[in-house]
Amino acid sequence: MTTGYVFHPEYLWHDTGTSAGLLPANPTAGVQPAVHIENPEAKRRTHELIHVSGLLGELTVIEPRRATMTELLRVHTPAHVQHIRTQSDLRQGGDAGDGFSPVGHGSYDIARLAAGGLIALVNAAAQGDITNGYALTRPPGHHATADTGMGFCLFNNIAIAARHAQTTLGLTRIAIVDWDAHHGNGTQAIFYTDPTVLTISLHQANCFPPDSGWTHENGAADGAGYALNVPLPPGSGHAAYLHAMHQVVIPALDRFAPDLILLANGVDANVFDPMARQMLTATSYREMTSLLVDAADRLCHGRLIAAHEGGYSPFYTPYCALAFLEELTGTTTRVTDPYAAVVAGYTAEPLRAHQQAVIDEAAHLVPRIGKREITTAP
Ligand SMILES: [Zn+2]
Repeated sequence: MTTGYVFHPEYLWHDTGTSAGLLPANPTAGVQPAVHIENPEAKRRTHELIHVSGLLGELTVIEPRRATMTELLRVHTPAHVQHIRTQSDLRQGGDAGDGFSPVGHGSYDIARLAAGGLIALVNAAAQGDITNGYALTRPPGHHATADTGMGFCLFNNIAIAARHAQTTLGLTRIAIVDWDAHHGNGTQAIFYTDPTVLTISLHQANCFPPDSGWTHENGAADGAGYALNVPLPPGSGHAAYLHAMHQVVIPALDRFAPDLILLANGVDANVFDPMARQMLTATSYREMTSLLVDAADRLCHGRLIAAHEGGYSPFYTPYCALAFLEELTGTTTRVTDPYAAVVAGYTAEPLRAHQQAVIDEAAHLVPRIGKREITTAP
């Protein structure tokens, strides 16, 4: 098994400015300038831990390139691409669309390098150079819709990679699993009527975007049944997420039988994350990843390609990501989760009835996915 890895220093140069957490600084309204919550630190520390742990030496490092206009336009409207470009050209930068998603000066090119990094991994997997891979990219992508950026996302990296795989690599059935703590609304919206792309999102109910990602959002038209949501109650942890993987994600993947599994690897459902209220640990991510790796082996020659999404705890994100990447490679490093003793009690938290009810509701929708033969990409 060969695992690809994409990283580039420019990912850390995406400048989200002096926002106060997630709010734009506004001194006249009493909002003090500070550091934006989506800043480079968690990602920088993650890359450094991958290096220092020795895992980097086990990986096939793949150089990213910038996504082309053609690649962006398979997913996004010309107006949105132009908007990001215009905002990026401003000396002080601008916003991707919702007022909470800074576009730094030069971020257009960096966002293209993020999308292109994922494309490079998908290419390598299709060519057989790697089995699976991880793009530690920034800015994130899963909230971006066809026509706007939002939730710190400029372009939808995973959607762009999915369309690339279909259009140029002959991988026609794509499954996108999104276990970021927030709903993968942008990805869902882009593929909502498309039965060739199955989207499955596990997230904290009614967190971000508000009122988005309910189980009744199940796809439409030809895509009816091909969008799955598991809106887990706040406080859901190891047992709830593993139950959702066993009852919803894996059965859905088995029915759909994808040619490629893409993963929106947000690790912000960990217990230390400031942007959600879930209770996962590095061990949780390891066990969830193991299930996905097994499914990829069974269904699509191991092809599991992940993009980094959220993860805002600078001190715990790296251990969750390392556990994920160790599981992809099938190896372990000398670094074990130093917080394991602290979080042991969280792992022991049992599945609660109100969590199981949501998972059962989503599991009942899995049979709507048909194993149809699809021979032509859209
Ligand atoms: Zn998130």
